[in-house]
Amino acid sequence: MGKAGGDSAALINEQGLRLDGRRIDELRPIRIEVGILRNADGSAYIQFGKNKIMAAVYGPKEVHPKHSALPDKSVLRCRYHMSPFSTEERKNPAPSRREIEISKVIREALEPALMLEDYPRTAIDVFVEVLQSDGGSRCAGISAASVALADAGINMRDLVSACAAGKVAGQIVMDVDDTEDKEGQADLPIAIMPMSSQVTLLQLDGQLNDEEFHKAFNFALDGCRRVYQLQREALIGKYFGNNGGNSDGGL
Ligand code: ADP
Repeated sequence: MGKAGGDSAALINEQGLRLDGRRIDELRPIRIEVGILRNADGSAYIQFGKNKIMAAVYGPKEVHPKHSALPDKSVLRCRYHMSPFSTEERKNPAPSRREIEISKVIREALEPALMLEDYPRTAIDVFVEVLQSDGGSRCAGISAASVALADAGINMRDLVSACAAGKVAGQIVMDVDDTEDKEGQADLPIAIMPMSSQVTLLQLDGQLNDEEFHKAFNFALDGCRRVYQLQREALIGKYFGNNGGNSDGGL
């Protein structure tokens, strides 16, 4: 990850607009659909700018091997994976260290929202498949996975909503894309449980001083709240309306 700064001034023009025309406090366009995979217990698809990510949930189900089951709660297992065609150059489909780390942080971001104690001796599998990536894929993946878990009917305390902020051309900006991530100076992805305002993911790549951190954190928090609205609308649309996903299971 290049956080050296580079020729980053060009990333924000004199009108204060970013390369894709956004203001510094503007999110990329977001679309969430619920329940579009027929063979998963729950699923969601998110477009977050140019990110296109599918999340699928299987379970609660029997655990294999049996000795890895827990007597008092379900085991949550997450796999974040980038398809070979999700990046500009073909990505090796074998799991990279980065994907293994992101799988772990996604599990840790989702777990506090789940009532795993309701499903002892079972497993819940969450697959986050990145079809197209453009920076911020872990956040978009978490937001989609949390909707997919709700779609699977897993008992939850809250949804989990995620968004990043960062530092680009010396300015704090909301929701960094891939170019801004690579050319910018910092990336701060966070995830929250919106009803209780608890933070379940907070990472920082790069450096921010105190003031910058607070500003970036508040930008990311605003982004999470907007994502939460869209997650709710997608779920309400699926279960109480007719615009929340493709109920016949086809894409
Ligand atoms: P996040 O997607 O959560 O921001 P990173 O900061 O690690 O995670 O990655 C930023 C972006 O870099 C990704 O969204 C993706 O567009 C790009 N990227 C990551 N890994 C690769 C790779 N192996 N090949 C090409 N691009 C990649």
